[in-house]
Amino acid sequence: MKACIQMLMAATFLFGSTATFAWSAPGHETVGSIADSLLVGTNAAKAVKTILGNENLQTASVWADCAKGVTEKPPLKYVVNPKFTECQPFETAAGEAQMVDFVTRNLSACMPAPGDESCHRQYHFSDVAIERNAYARSEIGTSDHDIVSAINAAIAVLQGGSSPSPISFTSKQEALRVLAHYVGDIHQPLHVAAIYLDTSGHEVDPDAGAYDPATKTQGGNKLLDQGKDFHTTKWDAIPASLTAAKFKGAVTQAKRVPPTPGPLNQWAAAWASDTVLASHTAFSGLTFGPENTTNGTWPVTEPTGYSTAKAKLQKKQLVKAGARLAQLLQAIFP
Ligand SMILES: [Zn+2]
Repeated sequence: MKACIQMLMAATFLFGSTATFAWSAPGHETVGSIADSLLVGTNAAKAVKTILGNENLQTASVWADCAKGVTEKPPLKYVVNPKFTECQPFETAAGEAQMVDFVTRNLSACMPAPGDESCHRQYHFSDVAIERNAYARSEIGTSDHDIVSAINAAIAVLQGGSSPSPISFTSKQEALRVLAHYVGDIHQPLHVAAIYLDTSGHEVDPDAGAYDPATKTQGGNKLLDQGKDFHTTKWDAIPASLTAAKFKGAVTQAKRVPPTPGPLNQWAAAWASDTVLASHTAFSGLTFGPENTTNGTWPVTEPTGYSTAKAKLQKKQLVKAGARLAQLLQAIFP
């Protein structure tokens, strides 16, 4: 009976999943490149070199998204998408086998709820309600396989320990690749916080009273801005001026980001809390229409000046992410 339910759940998430990429590849590459620059000449840079070989953090930063190219129905295999040129370094026989192995171990052990994505796809985000002022594991939208849990699992492996179930990272190479990605994601406001809406498009607080999963906007993936996915087109995409090649002064700004206080295993939660606050700016002034019940989406309208405010916040978050990735690696490899 239990196996039947598991299979049914597996089938539901396999067919019901939606694509979620936090930051586009350029956003992640910016974060990785800032960290690469900050680490020059440090012991952490030596450790990165030992673990990743010729791959730097900029290149490694997209690996966790590239692994989404592995099919999730047996037999699992990696399918090349020529659109994602950033994945080319991993598209060798050995590289593809690594991605298949990673996805196989991180597909369903977290027991995805009906309609939820497979486990490794859930490692990229949490859905803390924008009514909150901090991340806490007691809140709706958090789990033992959300972004905070995934970062902590990667830290544990890099420190020589093992990743707590249901997460399975089995080598330092894998842990560092995903860490370089997730530290980017945890600074993308819509990958940490989410708005929950009723069918009329009114904001609801999922932590107050009985929680209705139908109110979940999936980190804004179910919000449509003039027909386009608000999460992807507005927040994952970054202005050309913020790409690794063009972002002037990024490293100088990153050097000013203060270190995170407290033990390492509390840093990810602290960063998530900081991003929950950033999400208040990201959602400021947005208005929502009634749900389109045919496809389960809500229309969103931006206030005047939204794009400028958004780009400013993206810049700040990318800088913080690059700085904190470097700080974390220096703390792990002093
Ligand atoms: Zn991601």
